[in-house]
Amino acid sequence: MSTLTESRPLPVRVLKFGGSSVGDPGAICRVIDIVQTSATKNRVVVVVSALARVTNTLDAMLRDPAPDRAKELLNLYRRHVDSARELLSEAELETYRATLGNHLSNIIPALRRVNQHASTHLDAAHILAAGERFSVPLVAAALRTAGLNSRSVDATSLIRVDSVSESDVDHKKSYDQIRRWYKTLQPGEIPIVTGFIAGAPCGRTVTLGRGGSDFTASLLASALNANLLERWTDVDGLFSADPKESGKAEKYEVLRMEDAEILNHANKLGMHEHTITPLLASRTPLRVRSLLSQGADTLVIPITESSPRRLRAQ
Ligand code: ASP
Ligand code: MG
Repeated sequence: MSTLTESRPLPVRVLKFGGSSVGDPGAICRVIDIVQTSATKNRVVVVVSALARVTNTLDAMLRDPAPDRAKELLNLYRRHVDSARELLSEAELETYRATLGNHLSNIIPALRRVNQHASTHLDAAHILAAGERFSVPLVAAALRTAGLNSRSVDATSLIRVDSVSESDVDHKKSYDQIRRWYKTLQPGEIPIVTGFIAGAPCGRTVTLGRGGSDFTASLLASALNANLLERWTDVDGLFSADPKESGKAEKYEVLRMEDAEILNHANKLGMHEHTITPLLASRTPLRVRSLLSQGADTLVIPITESSPRRLRAQ
């Protein structure tokens, strides 16, 4: 007979991994361990960015039109397949190669229009969004190879913006879509969701602006009433300045969410500018941690949340 604790539904936790956290096979292995451990105590939803520097490469193609992109596309293909070779079973590798090939081919017409100076805002978004469409199936396949039940999810069907020219999220529609989608997941299934990407009313892809995966993760955490959003990166928390650039950067151990919202809007925390807003509304705590030193972190909690220890112990 199951006990009361056993039958209680697991809390939802959203884990977000930025580009540096999935930048090479070693980092993706650490992601797998973190997801696996978290999934023993939580229902986990994972948000992933493009592999480190991939969005910059795509952005450079937009800024500097050229008639032939074959070499750059081949480099992108190779970089992803090299990681896939180290992480995926043979069968998963075959499927991933085909998926990657499709996504790469899909951006060629838009790149051609860029070269002809005939591209639209939607072409640009479609090209920029490709990095997450390359990375998410890779991470999902790596998790499956490690024995977990995982699938990749394109966030265009979850996050809706009001217009094609602005990343103006329709919160109500997005939350409805996210909640409906979440109910379709199998027990124990771990979705890997594309960060940065949203759907326009016409059904086309738009982006949430650079660094937008943070915002994707906070929208999901808020819509699903997660007990915590964990943002994994390559520095161990939030700092008063960029710790990679300033020796004087001070680390925040605990930040009140209301203060974090102000600092973040002033672009002082290194996260997408809208990251805190949905969390503040739903009072969902945020923990910022490093893949490299897993003990240290910054905890961002709403004012009424009096005991950070409770979260630290989980
Ligand atoms: N890949 C996108 C970027 O580099 C989104 C993100 O990383 O959050 O801006
Ligand atoms: Mg990023």
